[in-house]
Amino acid sequence: MSAKVHLCYPHGKYKALTMSYDDAVEADKRLVNIFNRHGIKGTFHLNSGLFGQAGARRRLTEEEAVALYQGHEVSAHTLTHPSIARCPREQMVHEVMEDRKNLERLFGYTVRGMSYPNGSYSEQLKEMLPHLGIEYARVVQTTGSFSLPDDWLEWKATCHHKQQLMEHAETFVGIDKPQHLILMYVWGHSYEFDQDNNWELIEQFCEFVGGREEIWYATNIEIVDYFKAYRQLRFSAGMEFVYNPTAQSVWIRADEAVIEVKSGQQVTLV
Ligand SMILES: [Zn+2]
Repeated sequence: MSAKVHLCYPHGKYKALTMSYDDAVEADKRLVNIFNRHGIKGTFHLNSGLFGQAGARRRLTEEEAVALYQGHEVSAHTLTHPSIARCPREQMVHEVMEDRKNLERLFGYTVRGMSYPNGSYSEQLKEMLPHLGIEYARVVQTTGSFSLPDDWLEWKATCHHKQQLMEHAETFVGIDKPQHLILMYVWGHSYEFDQDNNWELIEQFCEFVGGREEIWYATNIEIVDYFKAYRQLRFSAGMEFVYNPTAQSVWIRADEAVIEVKSGQQVTLV
């Protein structure tokens, strides 16, 4: 009788938290500082054509952005923030690819995700994104749940931070079902905390959910990469063993045992 196998997050965890903040404005400095104090990871979706733009919501300069987002993920948000679903194809390609090129030149790694500017997307754009090297894209609609997306190119968060953030956090922390794999995903704009004068909300949230042994604090792309690695595991037909051909460890639960299947290793399951 072969083992019953389930995917776990790294180190056998079953809860993950990820954050997503757009537009690279000055208030991100305060937000990143709060995340860093509590070990929380975020993904920051940047418009590289708007760096340094002045105004009520001043945009970070390139130098500020490079210094600020260390340890977090930088991801695309198009070059200039158009309502992209209404743009010609040629312009869609330009807006995504030029943003990628600029961000990759600045940050030194491949940018493979994005969030849709103004929440604007279409089937046509979604079909193009994989050809532009984009592996996930966040929308503005939310689920109110802790489920994983069916479609990485239409990734819905659990909530915007204005949507009962602490209630969702309490539910998330209170869940005790290791047989499920759950994700809490929060999105927003840091300037909204200035506008609404409620920085204490995100302080309170990060203090409450941060620093917990049972939670994996991940960027958006780390979650995508982890699931892709899992999909590449090669299980034997009879589930006696599994081989991991990827460059990263994947953790599985085989009956009650948590097993790390390391890169390039074959592990016996029974
Ligand atoms: Zn935006």
